[in-house]
Amino acid sequence: MTAAELDVPDLTSLAPLDVAPRAGRLREALAAAEVDALLVTSLTNVRYLTGFTGSAALLLVSGRGLTFVTDGRYGQQATDQLAAAGVEATIEVTGDAQRQAMAAAVGAAGAARLGLEADAVTWAAQRTYATSWFPDVELVPTTGLVAALRLVKDEGEMARIAAACAVADVALAEVRPRLADGPTEDEFGQELDLAMRRHGADDVSFETIVASGPNGAKPHHRPGPRRIADGDLVVIDFGALVDGYHSDMTRTVAVGALSATQERMYAVVLEAQAAGVAAVAEGVAARDVDRACRAVIDEAGWGSAFLHGTGHGVGLDIHEDPRVGQASTAMLASRSVVTVEPGVYLPEHGGVRIEDTVVVTPDGCRPVTLTHKSPAV
Ligand code: ZN
Ligand code: ZN
Repeated sequence: MTAAELDVPDLTSLAPLDVAPRAGRLREALAAAEVDALLVTSLTNVRYLTGFTGSAALLLVSGRGLTFVTDGRYGQQATDQLAAAGVEATIEVTGDAQRQAMAAAVGAAGAARLGLEADAVTWAAQRTYATSWFPDVELVPTTGLVAALRLVKDEGEMARIAAACAVADVALAEVRPRLADGPTEDEFGQELDLAMRRHGADDVSFETIVASGPNGAKPHHRPGPRRIADGDLVVIDFGALVDGYHSDMTRTVAVGALSATQERMYAVVLEAQAAGVAAVAEGVAARDVDRACRAVIDEAGWGSAFLHGTGHGVGLDIHEDPRVGQASTAMLASRSVVTVEPGVYLPEHGGVRIEDTVVVTPDGCRPVTLTHKSPAV
């Protein structure tokens, strides 16, 4: 596809996010986790459940409803954003009195067992909660309660992820010809980032990776002063952020003529990536997607040069559940969004990684990153 064929949707009229029912679904999951209430401390999870985008908040979800605590910087914003999302909550703007507000809310809810998000609470915070905030209730570590809800994307989330992917597609198509002019990795990365901004990204999804020549053999190389030259494979891994949602795509571009080994690396990774995408469907074990990619690369003799897992979920976080790797226990669900990104990394030849973000469907998947996979500049 050329730049002209790719299109960014109108970012001001994306389908609305269906935030309000989420806390109810979480509440239904509390009994199975054997807790009476959950203290949500992950800001991303707070955002998911309430629509709040500020940098400080706690959310208590109990049978009695929602109690939302933030500080004076965010009082008005919290009121506005929760109202806009249709979320009903008691909002406490506390300054530094969060402890009293939350302790009172837990007491009012009559919770005997209070869940904490084990992945989002430091050891120090846990000790503070246990000794000072909630000395009279039993604190219970929980994992993945909100993450399980976030696995399945609603229409508004899907629209934002697709829009972020579209921004990235258009941006790459626009700046890609510059690779022939011999920019440094840094220069090319900055142009790509700027193009994403110009097409409506709120930010980059993560620090753009531009890894050329020998640097390509390091999967997460940071762009540096190396000048891109003929004979380079250039691994470009990047994404756009749209209204909190991420995109993630990798393309490897061949500058000038490739060696026979580089050609073969590209062909093998392309085939592995297609095999992985073909394996994705509702009800499939995530590790079987990894296995499908790995089988092709193993067969080519480069199994030990595939240095990472096959993919990950994408949404409000750039890396979220489900993980798609050899050790994954996840089963893919419809409307989950995952990446498929095998790679081969050989220090003497460079690296090849090809990554798409796909939406899982009942009988397969639908790619939302649409950039073509021809290696030519
Ligand atoms: Zn990526
Ligand atoms: Zn990725």
